[in-house]
Amino acid sequence: MNAKNTSNEKPFYITTAIDYVNGAPHVGHGFEKVQTDCFARFQRSCGTEVRYLTGSDENSIKNVQAAQKQGITTQELVDTNAAIFENLRSLLNLSTDDFIRTTQKRHFDGAKKFWQTINPDDLYKKDYTGLYCDGCEEFKQDKDLEENGDCPEHAKPPKEIHEENWFFRLSRYSDMLLDLIESDTLKIYPEFRKNEVVSFIKGGLEDFSISRSNERAKNWGVSVPGDDTQMMYVWVDALANYITALDYGESESELYTKYWNHAERVHVIGKGILRFHAIYWPAMLLSARLPIPNKVYAHEYFTVEGKKMSKSLGNVLPPEDLVKRYGTDGARYVLLTSMPYTKDGDLSYERTDALYNADLANGLGNLTSRIITLAGDIQYEVPTIDKRALAKDMDEFNVPAALEKIWKIVDRANKLMEEKKPWTLKKKEDKLSQVEFTELIERFLQDLHILATLLTPFLPETSEKIFTQLETRKKEILFERVK
Ligand SMILES: [Zn+2]
Repeated sequence: MNAKNTSNEKPFYITTAIDYVNGAPHVGHGFEKVQTDCFARFQRSCGTEVRYLTGSDENSIKNVQAAQKQGITTQELVDTNAAIFENLRSLLNLSTDDFIRTTQKRHFDGAKKFWQTINPDDLYKKDYTGLYCDGCEEFKQDKDLEENGDCPEHAKPPKEIHEENWFFRLSRYSDMLLDLIESDTLKIYPEFRKNEVVSFIKGGLEDFSISRSNERAKNWGVSVPGDDTQMMYVWVDALANYITALDYGESESELYTKYWNHAERVHVIGKGILRFHAIYWPAMLLSARLPIPNKVYAHEYFTVEGKKMSKSLGNVLPPEDLVKRYGTDGARYVLLTSMPYTKDGDLSYERTDALYNADLANGLGNLTSRIITLAGDIQYEVPTIDKRALAKDMDEFNVPAALEKIWKIVDRANKLMEEKKPWTLKKKEDKLSQVEFTELIERFLQDLHILATLLTPFLPETSEKIFTQLETRKKEILFERVK
């Protein structure tokens, strides 16, 4: 692997959305983190300094409601559930560097500082009546709703709310945002999502409410600096996690300077919260005169056996179930290959069992054990690997495309194995067959080496296992051989 070719001088800061902790994680949560893990590991393997952040969004009214139902305090609820989300790190072998909880002091300090850094001309108080979806934690306009008036994300109607709130002058940033997005200064992936955001902005941006009354917030959240009757709108404090986790609240934070001011800043999120990341968050950052993200990638959603996951349908699939069935790398593979780049993915055991057997157990697993068994003490020269083939896909956040390229190598090697049948060559005693056998095995060992290298970001344990088996067979230094 040639680190110099692809190394990036800028540090790479990558984040997932922070999850609501009013329930346990499902495969969709797991998927987002595994995918982001691949981008983080890929950049590290290119020699780039990486910081990978995940976390939990704990200031939501949903947590207060869920705790009330269970008869425990909100703090107890968020402590218990945040621990389950944090445990995804070991369950799915994630290489996260930090886990931010928005009830932490560093977050409160940073969120308040962020509010105070927003241009005061962009903040004003106004009486407001609107339709609010608790599930989305968002005021809805008629055009956001289904024909029957339901929220499309939560399949129930939003509630009418009347109160006095702080507003952010989003309308002022329309042209600036449009320019930044159309010029790809803020690059949105995939392309069709960028077009959606552009047409949403062209449709006109309205100022939005960025606080709520203490009463409605049930006194749970980050209070608005200088106004003790109001709490910050949960999305405002939640979005700020990307900088509060870098100790933005401290007067001089090295982490913040390195990973926000001077880094490539990348957010990985679900498609349902793209507007928050591509419009509201950059607009507030512009107002605060802070750098905006460089890239926002919105992934699609999982259905289970063709249906949207929901508690009422009882089809919520926890990531543990996949790990129990396929192991950690197996679960990672199944998740990564079941989600198309531009449309929803579906999980069913019928399909994922077949996928696991064909690609991992038979495709890669059999190939590896066949080659290692045949290799005996044959050695191979370590090949040079050009990772630029995967760099384009990884830069565009297209994991399925990257994995497809890797599996072409698996398929090609398996095909060659069937054609050449090296085990029959091995039995022949003539010198020519022996030479042919050795050359063939060297080539197969090189293929395995390439596969183990390219698989590192996606299936880290599998890659490690293949490297262990190759260890004694490597010829690292090339000498001129004299017969
Ligand atoms: Zn909703």
